[in-house]
Amino acid sequence: MSDRVNRQWLLARRPQGMVSPADFEFVERPIPELAEGEYLVRNLYISFDPTMRGWMEDRESYMPPVALGDVMRCSTVGQVTESKNPAYARGTILTGLFGMQELAVGGQGFMHGTPVAEGTPLTWPLGVTGLTGMTAYFGMLELGEPKPGETVLVSGAAGATGSVAAQIAKLEGCRVVGIAGGPEKCAWLEKEAGLDAAIDYKSENVEERIRALCPDGVDIYFDNVAGPILDAALANLALRARVVMCGGISGYNEEKPPPGPQNLMNVIIQRARMEGFIIIDYVSRFPEAAAALTQWVREGKIVHQEDVQVGIENAPETFVRLFTGQNLGKQLLKVGDPVDL
Ligand code: NDP
Repeated sequence: MSDRVNRQWLLARRPQGMVSPADFEFVERPIPELAEGEYLVRNLYISFDPTMRGWMEDRESYMPPVALGDVMRCSTVGQVTESKNPAYARGTILTGLFGMQELAVGGQGFMHGTPVAEGTPLTWPLGVTGLTGMTAYFGMLELGEPKPGETVLVSGAAGATGSVAAQIAKLEGCRVVGIAGGPEKCAWLEKEAGLDAAIDYKSENVEERIRALCPDGVDIYFDNVAGPILDAALANLALRARVVMCGGISGYNEEKPPPGPQNLMNVIIQRARMEGFIIIDYVSRFPEAAAALTQWVREGKIVHQEDVQVGIENAPETFVRLFTGQNLGKQLLKVGDPVDL
């Protein structure tokens, strides 16, 4: 393939219900000549994040929607292969919103790269030391405010964000219970990630299991899923509990917003606090979080899983894995290797 031809996935239509590979269109297009200040990025790893499902809707959020016919927006790690920008030398490894495609022109719109520190494994800036790890870091530490001896419950616990949030709570001296789908993920949580217990929401009565495993109530509930699991957690709050509203993946593919929680009154009765956040609020503190996470991972205090699929042609199917729970840890797609330039 000529270096000047790009293989891209465009947003072909707005999804209805569950996102489908047919919502995307595969095209091959020539790369435009670079203008002054621009640089060409060859993507190496593409990151799939549940929030991309929201960007496919025609509604304003914390970021504008992806326009129909545009390249699907997503984070990647890539390498600069050509440059008309002195700040981005050829060979530089960087991360940014370079989209579901092989090549991207950086230096315009959302396409601005952040160089990756030398020696960092290429996948980490998209996961454990990147946005999902940092979401866990700020969500747990700033909103959750864990104290030694407290009981922490995390949903989506075997995923990229949840697994790190749960382990940070362990590092803070808490007793941690995770909720995940299936025996394999629950075994990983207990045996590899060091959680005190795991609940398989696909085969167990979640509310009963929380009550049994957290007899004094839940001090921090870190919510990645919303829906019935949030309701079960609300029914088991301890006095002055904190509910960290990180995500609500159980509703992302629903046509209509799911019904509100039934156990909301318990927030009043237990004088609890529910608080949402978006990770971009913490941009100025990203270096602090990335440094802490990198150290914990290198010291073996935080373990993480990466689910690496291969080939740009498999991008839509890889995205769907997030919503069927097929991903074991951070969902990535490898589309290239770095080269000596
Ligand atoms: P994960 O690695 O956790 O992957 C998604 C997981 O969600 C799946 O593996 C699956 O796990 C679970 N899941 C999928 N569908 C359902 C469902 N219907 N009910 C319950 N669980 C479901 O993804 P991320 O770590 O990237 O994201 C986790 C959450 O964090 C998302 O809600 C995301 O939107 C949120 N987030 C929020 C940010 C913020 O700034 N607030 C930033 C980044 C992420 P299982 O097999 O266990 O069901």
